[in-house]
Amino acid sequence: MTLRPRARIHLDHIVDNWRRFCAMRPRRETAAVVKADAYGHGLPKVSEALYDAGCQHFFVAYSFEGLAVRQAVGPHAVIYVLNGPDAYDDVIFRDAALTPVINSDQQFQILVSWIQAGGALPRGYALHFDTGMNRLGLPCSDAGSISEAAAQLPPALIMSHLACADQPEAGLNTTQLDRFHDVSALFPNVPTSLEASDGLFLDERFQSHLARPGICLYGGGRPPSHLSLQAGMTLEAPILQVRACRAHETIGYGASHKLTTDTLVATVALGYADGFPRSASNAGYAMIDGVSCPILGRVSMDLITLNVSAVPHLARPGHFAQFFGTDLPLEDQAERAGTIGYELTAGLTARVRRDYD
Ligand SMILES: *Cc1c(COP(=O)(O)O)cnc(C)c1O
Repeated sequence: MTLRPRARIHLDHIVDNWRRFCAMRPRRETAAVVKADAYGHGLPKVSEALYDAGCQHFFVAYSFEGLAVRQAVGPHAVIYVLNGPDAYDDVIFRDAALTPVINSDQQFQILVSWIQAGGALPRGYALHFDTGMNRLGLPCSDAGSISEAAAQLPPALIMSHLACADQPEAGLNTTQLDRFHDVSALFPNVPTSLEASDGLFLDERFQSHLARPGICLYGGGRPPSHLSLQAGMTLEAPILQVRACRAHETIGYGASHKLTTDTLVATVALGYADGFPRSASNAGYAMIDGVSCPILGRVSMDLITLNVSAVPHLARPGHFAQFFGTDLPLEDQAERAGTIGYELTAGLTARVRRDYD
């Protein structure tokens, strides 16, 4: 078997994490955000596992991702497409019964033209209002005219997205909440969706009908520790070679790390071409059987060098080192690389083998 990096995907942990959110908010719905190949965990398998556990609502960014969810879960779930419709997308939205999220007046006009040409969409549509993120969504000032235009065909969902949900004290949170209440009051009896992962941990005023967690389903983000969410993925790389280096020698490109003592160095099969960030050079670490082994020198395209002096008995070709997952928190590694967990899992390339537990 070729020694190459592997991502072990823990579908049972992802399902468990989703169930914890459902338990946190009884009488409300919890969707699953599975865009970007379920943050690198594999959209078909993750969607199927969550659907089997009872998840009825999925969010993706693109219609082609929505089609993949439909193929994985069958006809019944509601699949929202966050980036909304393009003019020539109507066949895929109809055939796969996808629910477009309308983000602009132009997208609303596309929707109207589809409805005039072929009748209502089988699963309706959602309206996304920009309450302060300034990224995507209809301006709140258009809510009145849109609610009149939509009187004959009410939306299935009114949504917005919080900019600072990871900072509970930020004033923008309540500003956005107030605007969201004003907008949704114009659409009585239409369910609302506001909070993503971080919003779930704000106070209960922020609870809408349908939560949209992504990163926390996969064991990332900053959930309260009492929830004890579990890792969705464990990234591992096999040792290819081990060498005893002497004090004053240097490691790797640019000789960027100079050894101060004699050191046992292991070279593992993982690099930035696998999606592991070069910014973890001389900063990140790996775990070998629960022992921390710092990255020495630069992360190169295919290879990383580790200080394995603490585990000489385990340092042999074929033994795996973990870079995040069950033994090493995703966000801990991400912080050392100057990034966030989302980028580590969603950025993994096709060269990394996915194994499903
Ligand atoms: C990606 C995304 C989410 C999920 O966010 P997480 O922080 O991963 O929970 C929810 N809503 C919108 C609009 C998004 O773009």
